[in-house]
Amino acid sequence: MKIYAVGLGPGDVSYMIPEAREVIRSCDTVVGYTVYIDLISDLLAGKELISTGMTAEVERCEAAVAEALRGKQVCVVSSGDAGIYGMASLLYEAAEPYPALEVEVVPGITAAAAAAAILGSPLSNDFAVISLSDLMTPWEVIERRLDAVSAADMVTCLYNPRSKKRCDYLEKAAAIALRHKPPTTNCGYVRNAFRDTGSEACLCTLADLATADVDMFTTVIIGNADTRVIHGKLVCARGYRL
Ligand code: SAH
Repeated sequence: MKIYAVGLGPGDVSYMIPEAREVIRSCDTVVGYTVYIDLISDLLAGKELISTGMTAEVERCEAAVAEALRGKQVCVVSSGDAGIYGMASLLYEAAEPYPALEVEVVPGITAAAAAAAILGSPLSNDFAVISLSDLMTPWEVIERRLDAVSAADMVTCLYNPRSKKRCDYLEKAAAIALRHKPPTTNCGYVRNAFRDTGSEACLCTLADLATADVDMFTTVIIGNADTRVIHGKLVCARGYRL
């Protein structure tokens, strides 16, 4: 018996890997957050759908496992990559009591890679990914990690940079980065990367980031000492001699 965690990529179905499409096609039941189910509606004819709002992840995974144990072919979908702030780890935990139930993860293009491609090539050297959501990780831990990666001059990719409840988190994150990086550090952000609604990209400096117009559909990239702007694109120079 097998249950799948499938990454849908950033949004547009043409940026989903063919294997993800095949797995979804082969399934009887597709489980996921309503917004992501909507992204793949054209693949879902005749399938049973279990879709719920954002905070019901545990219930969703338990329902998926129950369906799989009943003999159904089931996949749980996440945006981007299912193993990066996605449902894959939760699915492993939900399936843990049933050793006969194998979990398979089908990877997808994560928001960091999608946003980077639109901005230029800002992740060409060492980088860190940090989510500013404190639903699962205490804010003190997030702060400590931000401070550590900024002190190491790593390029830093921020997921979940702002929500209605957490309207000042990006401002706080920028202030932490400014402890170690100059205010002129090149940064960028992309909203709705590769979504059919169209994406918006913007370059700015670290000094400007605190007031940047970002929301929960935006990925932010804070550059490092090697991050330059080349013809309007954000590029982390790797140190090749030209
Ligand atoms: N599993 C997903 C990440 C889920 S966390 C992945 O691998 O991409 C949700 C966060 O991802 C959002 O708050 C946003 O920061 C980022 N994100 C997801 N899709 C995005 C998109 N199309 N454009 C920009 N950022 C996106």
